[in-house]
Amino acid sequence: MKLDVEVLRYLSKDDFRVLTAVEMGMRNHEIVPAELIDRIASLKHGGTYKVLKNLLKHKLVHHDSSKYDGFRLTYLGYDFLAIKTLVNRGVISSVGRKLGTGKESDIYEVASEDGTVLAMKLHRLGRVSFRAVKSKRDYLRHRSSFNWLYLSRLAALKEFAFMKALEEHGFPVPNAVDCNRHCVIMSLVQGYPLVQVKELQNPETIFETVLGVIVRLAEHGLIHCDFNEFNIMIDDDEKVTVIDFPQMVSVSHRNAQMYFDRDVECIFKFFQKRFNLSFQVSTDDNEGSDADTDETGWPSFSSISKSSGFLDKELAASGFSRKDQEDIEKFIEEDIDDTDSDREESEDKQFVESTEANVKGLSSLHLEEQEEQTSNSDEDGVEVKQRSCEAGQ
Ligand code: ADP
Ligand code: MG
Repeated sequence: MKLDVEVLRYLSKDDFRVLTAVEMGMRNHEIVPAELIDRIASLKHGGTYKVLKNLLKHKLVHHDSSKYDGFRLTYLGYDFLAIKTLVNRGVISSVGRKLGTGKESDIYEVASEDGTVLAMKLHRLGRVSFRAVKSKRDYLRHRSSFNWLYLSRLAALKEFAFMKALEEHGFPVPNAVDCNRHCVIMSLVQGYPLVQVKELQNPETIFETVLGVIVRLAEHGLIHCDFNEFNIMIDDDEKVTVIDFPQMVSVSHRNAQMYFDRDVECIFKFFQKRFNLSFQVSTDDNEGSDADTDETGWPSFSSISKSSGFLDKELAASGFSRKDQEDIEKFIEEDIDDTDSDREESEDKQFVESTEANVKGLSSLHLEEQEEQTSNSDEDGVEVKQRSCEAGQ
């Protein structure tokens, strides 16, 4: 299944109207009854069913008639809605090659109207942890509206808000450009994930920089929670950029110490193994008794968190609300005990397959003008799966 953005050009206003109607219906229905789609879309000249057939042909919706005649968006359908909105806003004008496939995202090269190449991250919550998402439905039973669209949208919103705030506070993160639905547009990092780097000119310097970021984050009231060699990018000049923020938590989180220690440990272990760095562990009682440092001489979490905490509060006041954060953290907490490494594949294969994307070349997207319809879901409850540092080892 390809993310064939060419198809976008051939989709009419009605196609998008009906696709948006399916999206709206999914606020309250996992499978949206065909009649409801027809009612929401209220096409001037009718023909919703014909349009749905066309959307089905392009795998933008999935047909389900097990309980009633209904449809739901596929990831591809959701991708198209987000891409079209961003094109209409003038943020991007073409989609290029795939840069990476994360566990719960796909990253593409995109270009803006002036030719600047950017990165587009499409969140795919539930792709790997679909089982986990399903198990959370108990928790969300009171809301029939829970679905992967909402989870992915919330993850993107969080990532965008955090990236922007971190950038404003001078952290080495990509420039957060825009966000719509499950899609985040950011600057392209000209580098490689640290996991792919076999040699460094200055491993000690990089190590200190990277660990310094963890400490500075905590001083600002935040913990990355997935700080590892997959989420640290290094360019040819050995400049560090940190990516991937949907799982960040505040230092006031009750498991903060554990998350912080895990991030630090990941970095120590990786640099030890990959670059043979050795760390002097202080055994001197006098030196080691300094409560502000741990046995390796790095500031301890307790000393940092004492003096920290404003960015987490600032973020709570931004587009990503305290309620959103609380919801996400609830799920992170539950997932931390979910150590089952052999994560089940999605039970709904087609659901996953529809997301398999393969973009050929750069294709410009000159789309018909269409009024922007945003999907402001008001559902409660989300899940962001915790990615532990062990994940890639
Ligand atoms: P996930 O949350 O799925 O792990 P990431 O944000 O870590 O997604 O991105 C997955 C991969 O995509 C990264 O390892 C990296 O190779 C690539 N990538 C992500 N963001 C960028 C970017 N801004 N510029 C260049 N490559 C990126
Ligand atoms: Mg990642």
